[in-house]
Amino acid sequence: MARSPAAAARLDAVSAANRIHAELDLRRRITARAGLVDVFEAIGDLDIPLVFKPLDSALGLCLPAPLKGIMITTERPLHIQRFTAAHELGHAVLEHEGSIDREILERGPNSPSDGRDLQEVAAEAFAAEFLLPRWLYRHHIQAQGWTVAHDLRRPATVYQLSLRMAVSYEATCWGLLSHQILPYDEVRGLSRARIGDLKAELGAGHKPADSWADVWKVTQRDNGARLLGNPDDLVRIELEEAVSSGHRWNVETLAAADWDLLEDQSLFSTDPLIYGAPSTRVVVARPRHGGHGEIALRERQPWAQETPDAAAFQLAVALQGRERAGLSRADRLRLGLSI
Ligand SMILES: [Zn+2]
Repeated sequence: MARSPAAAARLDAVSAANRIHAELDLRRRITARAGLVDVFEAIGDLDIPLVFKPLDSALGLCLPAPLKGIMITTERPLHIQRFTAAHELGHAVLEHEGSIDREILERGPNSPSDGRDLQEVAAEAFAAEFLLPRWLYRHHIQAQGWTVAHDLRRPATVYQLSLRMAVSYEATCWGLLSHQILPYDEVRGLSRARIGDLKAELGAGHKPADSWADVWKVTQRDNGARLLGNPDDLVRIELEEAVSSGHRWNVETLAAADWDLLEDQSLFSTDPLIYGAPSTRVVVARPRHGGHGEIALRERQPWAQETPDAAAFQLAVALQGRERAGLSRADRLRLGLSI
């Protein structure tokens, strides 16, 4: 059977996204480092001018070839800005006529295509593939030790996966379908989950001030990761602690690093009760101002000299929320400007 024009447009768009991944060596860079596709940085790497403006009537726009340039609204949350930027990058890479986008579907290859503009169908497929390639799912699933048969069928897992890839929960669900990781019925069930309930549970009674904000659950498996999110996000850190030998994580240093410590408890496994087994230190923290910097913790015996082989835990934190008017943070960094 011949391919429909929409299916052909999607295939072209997906291979263009893969080509840009290869050109910028993104797979190697991302799986070794941050764990997410920084689309604003990629647009800069491709020498396409990018600017943020308070657009009311559009999410973003792309100037037609031979001009080059992408404009994104400042009036939407970060994950919508990211998806819009990837969509506009699709228009630019696929050399479409100029486009002004008022609405963007995040379902990528799963969006309905009947009677729709093929350039929009292609740009949506490009955006989904560019931000959510199959290898990025695999990277996180392996790094976290999640199983497809069990963990990925739980909304709590998919929610944490979405935070690590810095896209919406819904877009993460549909990527599971388009990459054929889960079947349609499972994905439809996941996409209907109540994420607000998950946030309340993870926050141990503390809720983000803003309903858009998120609650991260990070463990030793996230050591070295980069958290990209919002200033109101809460971070729940769970680390194993060798309490029986007097080891404690120095979480009190978080306060000095401009974090509010909302919760600090040690959870002991009681099933079965094993004396001398490690307990889990659970900390819920919130950045006081802006949320840009680093979390660096060490596990130590308070009375002993610090040893170089002490367990360490480090996260790069960029909980600064949406991009503001002007250049992207990635471009400002590149130019040595303050972010
Ligand atoms: Zn478009």
